[in-house]
Amino acid sequence: MRIFSGIQPTGQKHLGNYIGAIRQYVEGQDRGDPAIYCIVDLHALTVPWDPASLRESVYDTTAILLAAGLDPDRSILFRQSDVREHTELTWYLAALTAHGDLNRMTQFKEKSAKQRELASAGLFFYPVLQAADVLAYKAQEVPVGEDQRQHVELMREIARRFNERFGPILVEPELRVPEVGARIMDLQEPTSKMSTTGGSESGTVLVLDDPKTVTKKIKSAVTDSGSEVKRGEGKEGIANLIQILAVARGSSEEEVEREFEGSGYGDFKGAVAEAVVDFLAPVRERYEELRPDEAALEQALEAGAEKARALASPTLAEVRSAIGIGPT
Ligand code: ATP
Ligand code: MG
Repeated sequence: MRIFSGIQPTGQKHLGNYIGAIRQYVEGQDRGDPAIYCIVDLHALTVPWDPASLRESVYDTTAILLAAGLDPDRSILFRQSDVREHTELTWYLAALTAHGDLNRMTQFKEKSAKQRELASAGLFFYPVLQAADVLAYKAQEVPVGEDQRQHVELMREIARRFNERFGPILVEPELRVPEVGARIMDLQEPTSKMSTTGGSESGTVLVLDDPKTVTKKIKSAVTDSGSEVKRGEGKEGIANLIQILAVARGSSEEEVEREFEGSGYGDFKGAVAEAVVDFLAPVRERYEELRPDEAALEQALEAGAEKARALASPTLAEVRSAIGIGPT
Protein backbone atom coordinates (compact mmCIF):
# COMPACT_ATOMS: atom_id res chain seq x y z
CA MET A 1 0.00 0.00 0.00
CA ARG A 2 1.58 3.26 -1.08
CA ILE A 3 0.48 6.13 1.17
CA PHE A 4 0.89 9.86 0.57
CA SER A 5 -0.21 12.91 2.53
CA GLY A 6 0.81 16.54 2.86
CA ILE A 7 0.62 19.09 5.63
CA GLN A 8 1.05 22.85 5.40
CA PRO A 9 3.80 24.69 7.25
CA THR A 10 1.44 27.57 7.96
CA GLY A 11 1.25 28.81 11.53
CA GLN A 12 1.32 26.18 14.22
CA LYS A 13 -0.36 22.87 13.88
CA HIS A 14 -3.46 22.28 15.97
CA LEU A 15 -5.39 19.48 17.63
CA GLY A 16 -7.48 18.99 14.47
CA ASN A 17 -4.36 18.40 12.37
CA TYR A 18 -3.00 16.07 15.01
CA ILE A 19 -6.15 13.98 15.34
CA GLY A 20 -7.32 14.10 11.71
CA ALA A 21 -3.98 13.72 9.97
CA ILE A 22 -0.77 13.34 11.99
CA ARG A 23 -2.05 10.40 14.06
CA GLN A 24 -2.90 8.59 10.83
CA TYR A 25 0.56 9.34 9.40
CA VAL A 26 2.23 7.66 12.34
CA GLU A 27 -0.04 4.64 12.09
CA GLY A 28 0.50 4.51 8.30
CA GLN A 29 4.23 3.92 8.69
CA ASP A 30 3.59 0.25 9.41
CA ARG A 31 1.24 -0.25 6.45
CA GLY A 32 2.86 2.07 3.95
CA ASP A 33 5.14 0.71 1.26
CA PRO A 34 6.31 3.35 1.52
CA ALA A 35 4.43 5.96 3.57
CA ILE A 36 5.29 9.36 2.09
CA TYR A 37 4.69 12.61 3.98
CA CYS A 38 5.33 16.05 2.62
CA ILE A 39 5.58 19.50 4.19
CA VAL A 40 3.74 21.42 1.51
CA ASP A 41 5.47 24.79 1.50
CA LEU A 42 4.25 25.53 -2.03
CA HIS A 43 0.66 25.25 -0.84
CA ALA A 44 1.50 27.78 1.86
CA LEU A 45 2.07 30.38 -0.87
CA THR A 46 -1.63 30.43 -1.67
CA VAL A 47 -2.38 32.84 1.19
CA PRO A 48 -0.24 35.84 2.29
CA TRP A 49 3.10 34.74 3.80
CA ASP A 50 6.29 36.07 5.26
CA PRO A 51 9.43 34.51 3.69
CA ALA A 52 11.45 34.18 6.90
CA SER A 53 8.56 32.75 8.90
CA LEU A 54 7.75 30.28 6.15
CA ARG A 55 11.24 28.81 6.39
CA GLU A 56 10.95 28.63 10.18
CA SER A 57 7.52 27.05 9.93
CA VAL A 58 8.86 24.25 7.76
CA TYR A 59 11.22 23.32 10.61
CA ASP A 60 8.46 23.72 13.20
CA THR A 61 6.20 21.37 11.28
CA THR A 62 9.01 18.89 10.62
CA ALA A 63 9.84 18.80 14.33
CA ILE A 64 6.17 18.32 15.24
CA LEU A 65 5.88 15.37 12.87
CA LEU A 66 9.03 13.74 14.20
CA ALA A 67 7.92 14.43 17.77
CA ALA A 68 4.58 12.78 17.03
CA GLY A 69 6.39 9.60 16.06
CA LEU A 70 7.29 9.80 12.37
CA ASP A 71 10.50 7.93 11.77
CA PRO A 72 12.45 9.04 8.68
CA ASP A 73 13.80 5.49 8.39
CA ARG A 74 10.34 3.96 8.23
CA SER A 75 8.72 6.67 6.10
CA ILE A 76 9.67 9.37 3.62
CA LEU A 77 9.44 12.89 5.03
CA PHE A 78 10.36 15.81 2.79
CA ARG A 79 9.72 19.40 1.77
CA GLN A 80 7.51 19.77 -1.29
CA SER A 81 9.58 22.47 -2.99
CA ASP A 82 12.66 20.22 -2.95
CA VAL A 83 11.05 17.88 -5.45
CA ARG A 84 10.38 19.88 -8.62
CA GLU A 85 8.36 17.06 -10.13
CA HIS A 86 5.34 18.33 -8.17
CA THR A 87 5.20 21.67 -9.97
CA GLU A 88 5.93 20.16 -13.35
CA LEU A 89 3.15 17.60 -13.02
CA THR A 90 0.80 20.36 -11.84
CA TRP A 91 1.00 21.96 -15.25
CA TYR A 92 0.35 18.74 -17.15
CA LEU A 93 -2.64 17.95 -14.94
CA ALA A 94 -3.96 21.49 -15.28
CA ALA A 95 -4.60 20.72 -18.95
CA LEU A 96 -7.05 18.01 -17.85
CA THR A 97 -8.71 19.85 -14.98
CA ALA A 98 -12.05 21.56 -15.52
CA HIS A 99 -12.12 25.20 -14.53
CA GLY A 100 -15.67 24.65 -13.32
CA ASP A 101 -14.55 21.90 -10.95
CA LEU A 102 -11.98 24.16 -9.32
CA ASN A 103 -14.61 26.85 -9.01
CA ARG A 104 -16.84 24.47 -7.06
CA MET A 105 -14.24 23.63 -4.40
CA THR A 106 -15.50 24.58 -0.96
CA GLN A 107 -12.03 25.38 0.33
CA PHE A 108 -11.45 27.81 -2.53
CA LYS A 109 -14.79 29.52 -1.92
CA GLU A 110 -14.16 29.83 1.81
CA LYS A 111 -10.53 30.89 1.66
CA SER A 112 -10.92 33.29 -1.26
CA ALA A 113 -13.81 35.02 0.50
CA LYS A 114 -11.52 35.67 3.47
CA GLN A 115 -8.73 37.31 1.44
CA ARG A 116 -8.91 41.08 1.75
CA GLU A 117 -6.21 42.15 -0.68
CA LEU A 118 -5.68 39.35 -3.15
CA ALA A 119 -7.48 36.09 -3.77
CA SER A 120 -4.65 34.58 -5.78
CA ALA A 121 -4.82 32.26 -8.75
CA GLY A 122 -2.63 30.01 -6.60
CA LEU A 123 -5.52 29.55 -4.20
CA PHE A 124 -7.70 28.56 -7.13
CA PHE A 125 -5.05 26.14 -8.39
CA TYR A 126 -4.39 24.55 -5.00
CA PRO A 127 -6.25 21.30 -5.77
CA VAL A 128 -4.27 20.75 -8.99
CA LEU A 129 -0.98 20.99 -7.12
CA GLN A 130 -2.43 18.69 -4.50
CA ALA A 131 -3.42 16.19 -7.20
CA ALA A 132 0.13 16.33 -8.56
CA ASP A 133 1.54 15.74 -5.04
CA VAL A 134 -0.32 12.47 -4.74
CA LEU A 135 -0.38 11.26 -8.35
CA ALA A 136 3.39 11.74 -8.83
CA TYR A 137 3.87 8.86 -6.38
CA LYS A 138 1.04 6.67 -7.68
CA ALA A 139 -0.18 6.60 -4.09
CA GLN A 140 -3.12 4.31 -3.34
CA GLU A 141 -4.19 5.93 -0.10
CA VAL A 142 -4.39 9.51 1.16
CA PRO A 143 -4.82 9.91 4.94
CA VAL A 144 -6.44 13.32 5.59
CA GLY A 145 -9.20 15.02 7.54
CA GLU A 146 -12.77 15.16 6.28
CA ASP A 147 -12.28 18.66 4.81
CA GLN A 148 -10.06 17.17 2.09
CA ARG A 149 -12.67 14.73 0.75
CA GLN A 150 -13.63 16.99 -2.14
CA HIS A 151 -10.01 17.50 -3.19
CA VAL A 152 -9.33 13.76 -3.15
CA GLU A 153 -12.42 13.15 -5.28
CA LEU A 154 -11.14 15.73 -7.74
CA MET A 155 -7.69 14.13 -7.96
CA ARG A 156 -9.36 10.79 -8.66
CA GLU A 157 -11.31 12.42 -11.45
CA ILE A 158 -8.14 13.97 -12.89
CA ALA A 159 -6.31 10.61 -12.77
CA ARG A 160 -9.27 8.90 -14.43
CA ARG A 161 -9.39 11.49 -17.17
CA PHE A 162 -5.64 11.23 -17.73
CA ASN A 163 -5.74 7.44 -17.96
CA GLU A 164 -8.71 7.41 -20.33
CA ARG A 165 -6.88 9.71 -22.67
CA PHE A 166 -3.26 8.51 -22.39
CA GLY A 167 -3.38 4.96 -21.02
CA PRO A 168 -3.19 3.48 -17.53
CA ILE A 169 -0.33 5.42 -15.98
CA LEU A 170 -1.75 7.18 -12.92
CA VAL A 171 -3.39 5.60 -9.87
CA GLU A 172 -6.75 6.74 -8.47
CA PRO A 173 -6.06 7.13 -4.75
CA GLU A 174 -8.51 6.25 -1.97
CA LEU A 175 -9.41 8.73 0.75
CA ARG A 176 -8.70 7.62 4.31
CA VAL A 177 -10.28 9.61 7.13
CA PRO A 178 -10.23 8.51 10.78
CA GLU A 179 -13.39 6.89 12.13
CA VAL A 180 -13.55 9.37 15.01
CA GLY A 181 -11.99 12.82 14.79
CA ALA A 182 -12.07 13.41 11.03
CA ARG A 183 -13.42 16.90 11.60
CA ILE A 184 -12.46 18.61 14.85
CA MET A 185 -14.40 21.84 15.27
CA ASP A 186 -13.27 25.24 16.53
CA LEU A 187 -14.02 25.40 20.27
CA GLN A 188 -15.47 28.90 19.99
CA GLU A 189 -17.33 28.38 16.70
CA PRO A 190 -18.24 24.69 16.74
CA THR A 191 -19.90 24.89 13.35
CA SER A 192 -16.54 25.61 11.62
CA LYS A 193 -13.56 23.31 11.54
CA MET A 194 -10.53 24.04 13.68
CA SER A 195 -8.11 25.67 11.24
CA THR A 196 -4.58 27.05 11.05
CA THR A 197 -5.42 30.09 8.98
CA GLY A 198 -9.12 30.67 9.73
CA GLY A 199 -10.77 30.00 13.06
CA SER A 200 -10.55 31.79 16.39
CA GLU A 201 -7.39 31.87 18.47
CA SER A 202 -9.04 30.79 21.70
CA GLY A 203 -10.99 28.08 19.87
CA THR A 204 -7.85 26.49 18.42
CA VAL A 205 -5.81 24.17 20.64
CA LEU A 206 -2.24 24.08 19.37
CA VAL A 207 -0.18 20.92 19.65
CA LEU A 208 2.48 23.04 21.38
CA ASP A 209 0.19 24.90 23.80
CA ASP A 210 1.27 24.51 27.42
CA PRO A 211 -1.11 22.65 29.77
CA LYS A 212 -2.48 25.86 31.29
CA THR A 213 -3.43 27.26 27.89
CA VAL A 214 -4.97 23.96 26.74
CA THR A 215 -7.05 23.79 29.92
CA LYS A 216 -8.19 27.38 29.59
CA LYS A 217 -9.24 26.96 25.96
CA ILE A 218 -11.17 23.76 26.61
CA LYS A 219 -12.86 25.05 29.75
CA SER A 220 -14.10 28.10 27.85
CA ALA A 221 -15.36 26.09 24.87
CA VAL A 222 -18.81 27.11 23.65
CA THR A 223 -21.50 24.57 24.57
CA ASP A 224 -25.30 25.02 24.71
CA SER A 225 -28.01 25.93 27.16
CA GLY A 226 -28.81 22.29 27.90
CA SER A 227 -27.08 20.05 30.38
CA GLU A 228 -26.69 16.65 28.73
CA VAL A 229 -23.34 15.28 27.62
CA LYS A 230 -24.80 13.82 24.45
CA ARG A 231 -24.49 14.42 20.72
CA GLY A 232 -27.54 15.89 19.00
CA GLU A 233 -29.25 18.77 17.24
CA GLY A 234 -27.82 22.14 18.33
CA LYS A 235 -25.13 20.43 20.43
CA GLU A 236 -22.14 20.86 18.10
CA GLY A 237 -19.91 22.16 20.90
CA ILE A 238 -20.58 19.21 23.20
CA ALA A 239 -20.38 16.74 20.32
CA ASN A 240 -16.97 18.17 19.43
CA LEU A 241 -15.70 17.74 22.99
CA ILE A 242 -17.10 14.19 23.05
CA GLN A 243 -15.17 13.23 19.93
CA ILE A 244 -12.01 14.89 21.26
CA LEU A 245 -12.24 13.00 24.55
CA ALA A 246 -12.94 9.72 22.77
CA VAL A 247 -9.80 10.12 20.65
CA ALA A 248 -7.60 11.34 23.50
CA ARG A 249 -8.57 8.35 25.62
CA GLY A 250 -8.71 5.84 22.81
CA SER A 251 -12.35 5.01 23.60
CA SER A 252 -15.56 5.62 21.64
CA GLU A 253 -18.05 8.47 21.61
CA GLU A 254 -20.75 6.14 23.00
CA GLU A 255 -18.53 5.23 25.93
CA VAL A 256 -17.90 8.89 26.69
CA GLU A 257 -21.66 9.63 26.62
CA ARG A 258 -22.33 6.71 28.94
CA GLU A 259 -19.64 7.70 31.40
CA PHE A 260 -20.85 11.30 31.64
CA GLU A 261 -24.57 10.57 31.88
CA GLY A 262 -25.87 12.86 34.62
CA SER A 263 -22.63 14.88 34.90
CA GLY A 264 -22.55 18.63 34.42
CA TYR A 265 -20.68 20.42 31.64
CA GLY A 266 -18.09 21.73 34.10
CA ASP A 267 -16.95 18.26 35.21
CA PHE A 268 -17.04 17.03 31.65
CA LYS A 269 -14.88 19.86 30.34
CA GLY A 270 -12.43 19.28 33.19
CA ALA A 271 -12.07 15.66 32.09
CA VAL A 272 -11.60 16.67 28.45
CA ALA A 273 -8.94 19.23 29.38
CA GLU A 274 -7.03 16.71 31.47
CA ALA A 275 -7.14 14.06 28.74
CA VAL A 276 -5.99 16.48 26.01
CA VAL A 277 -3.13 17.75 28.18
CA ASP A 278 -1.95 14.16 28.69
CA PHE A 279 -2.47 13.38 25.02
CA LEU A 280 -0.34 16.28 23.75
CA ALA A 281 2.33 16.47 26.48
CA PRO A 282 4.69 13.82 25.07
CA VAL A 283 4.64 15.48 21.64
CA ARG A 284 5.37 18.91 23.08
CA GLU A 285 8.20 17.59 25.23
CA ARG A 286 9.81 15.73 22.36
CA TYR A 287 9.40 18.79 20.12
CA GLU A 288 11.38 20.91 22.57
CA GLU A 289 14.25 18.44 22.23
CA LEU A 290 14.15 18.23 18.44
CA ARG A 291 13.37 21.76 17.27
CA PRO A 292 16.67 23.49 18.22
CA ASP A 293 18.75 21.27 15.95
CA GLU A 294 17.87 22.77 12.56
CA ALA A 295 20.83 21.10 10.89
CA ALA A 296 19.45 17.69 11.84
CA LEU A 297 15.96 18.65 10.65
CA GLU A 298 17.37 19.91 7.36
CA GLN A 299 19.36 16.73 6.93
CA ALA A 300 16.26 14.60 7.48
CA LEU A 301 14.33 16.65 4.91
CA GLU A 302 17.11 16.44 2.34
CA ALA A 303 17.44 12.69 2.72
CA GLY A 304 13.66 12.42 2.36
CA ALA A 305 13.65 14.55 -0.79
CA GLU A 306 16.19 12.28 -2.41
CA LYS A 307 14.01 9.23 -1.76
CA ALA A 308 10.92 11.09 -2.94
CA ARG A 309 12.58 12.21 -6.15
CA ALA A 310 13.55 8.65 -6.97
CA LEU A 311 9.86 7.70 -6.87
CA ALA A 312 8.38 10.76 -8.59
CA SER A 313 10.81 11.14 -11.43
CA PRO A 314 9.95 7.85 -13.24
CA THR A 315 6.24 8.83 -13.11
CA LEU A 316 7.08 12.15 -14.73
CA ALA A 317 9.08 10.42 -17.45
CA GLU A 318 6.08 8.19 -18.20
CA VAL A 319 3.71 11.14 -18.20
CA ARG A 320 5.90 13.25 -20.48
CA SER A 321 6.32 10.43 -22.92
CA ALA A 322 2.57 9.68 -22.98
CA ILE A 323 1.45 13.26 -23.55
CA GLY A 324 3.99 14.16 -26.23
CA ILE A 325 6.32 16.40 -24.29
CA GLY A 326 10.07 16.22 -24.93
CA PRO A 327 12.03 14.04 -27.34
CA THR A 328 10.98 10.42 -27.92
P1 ATP B 1 -5.94 25.67 6.61
O1 ATP B 1 -7.22 25.82 7.37
O2 ATP B 1 -5.17 26.90 6.41
O3 ATP B 1 -6.13 24.90 5.32
P2 ATP B 1 -5.40 23.39 8.11
O4 ATP B 1 -5.59 23.58 9.56
O5 ATP B 1 -6.47 22.73 7.30
O6 ATP B 1 -5.00 24.77 7.51
P3 ATP B 1 -3.57 21.77 6.63
O7 ATP B 1 -2.09 21.71 6.68
O8 ATP B 1 -4.26 22.33 5.43
O9 ATP B 1 -4.04 22.57 7.92
O10 ATP B 1 -4.15 20.32 6.88
C1 ATP B 1 -3.33 19.22 7.25
C2 ATP B 1 -4.19 18.03 7.50
O11 ATP B 1 -5.00 18.23 8.67
C3 ATP B 1 -5.17 17.70 6.37
O12 ATP B 1 -5.18 16.30 6.20
C4 ATP B 1 -6.49 18.17 6.88
O13 ATP B 1 -7.57 17.43 6.33
C5 ATP B 1 -6.35 17.90 8.37
N1 ATP B 1 -7.22 18.79 9.15
C6 ATP B 1 -7.20 20.14 9.10
N2 ATP B 1 -8.10 20.66 9.95
C7 ATP B 1 -8.71 19.59 10.55
C8 ATP B 1 -9.74 19.47 11.53
N3 ATP B 1 -10.31 20.54 12.05
N4 ATP B 1 -10.11 18.22 11.94
C9 ATP B 1 -9.53 17.14 11.41
N5 ATP B 1 -8.55 17.18 10.47
C10 ATP B 1 -8.14 18.39 10.05
MG1 MG C 1 -6.29 22.77 5.12
